[in-house]
Amino acid sequence: MKFIIDCGHGGTDPGAIGPTGLKEADVTLAIGKVLESISKMVGHTPVMTRTSDEYVSLKDRAKFANTQGGKCFVSIHCNSFTSPVPAGFEIWTSRGQNTSDTLASSITHQWSKAFPDHLIRADWSDGDVDKESGFYVLKHTAMPAVLLETAFISNPKWETWLREKGNLKKIAEVILDGLEAWGGK
Ligand SMILES: [Zn+2]
Repeated sequence: MKFIIDCGHGGTDPGAIGPTGLKEADVTLAIGKVLESISKMVGHTPVMTRTSDEYVSLKDRAKFANTQGGKCFVSIHCNSFTSPVPAGFEIWTSRGQNTSDTLASSITHQWSKAFPDHLIRADWSDGDVDKESGFYVLKHTAMPAVLLETAFISNPKWETWLREKGNLKKIAEVILDGLEAWGGK
């Protein structure tokens, strides 16, 4: 399957920064690179919206994805809040019922299997696990698109967790499992 991997932030935009200085942009790139390499190993065709610590605008990410024409778009982020308390996993899709919702459900299912101790922060009001939003890359991509808030980098416990390479690899494997369960090999 051809799909787009979108590592959030980068370059002049570090994204959220954890209490001991971990940058969201570095975490998202590390996860994306592992996802790219393990996907290639099993015959997928992943395409990255950025491959280094560089700034790419949201508009360019969406535009690039649409010229590539992948089967879906996966944007990787870390959550943050002004208080160190919040924790948990979130996944967002574009508004309305569409095939992004089934992709979000598939990834969430794999996530809760792999990380049973993680809180899944969900908006169940419309029956979907995703919270519906108007995020630019979700709105302007022409394929099913999801945005993962993997964990809260603003929470000291989860910043430490995000520093572990083994955890980032596990996240990449979970995303790949979710993609394959949704879209096949
Ligand atoms: Zn972000």
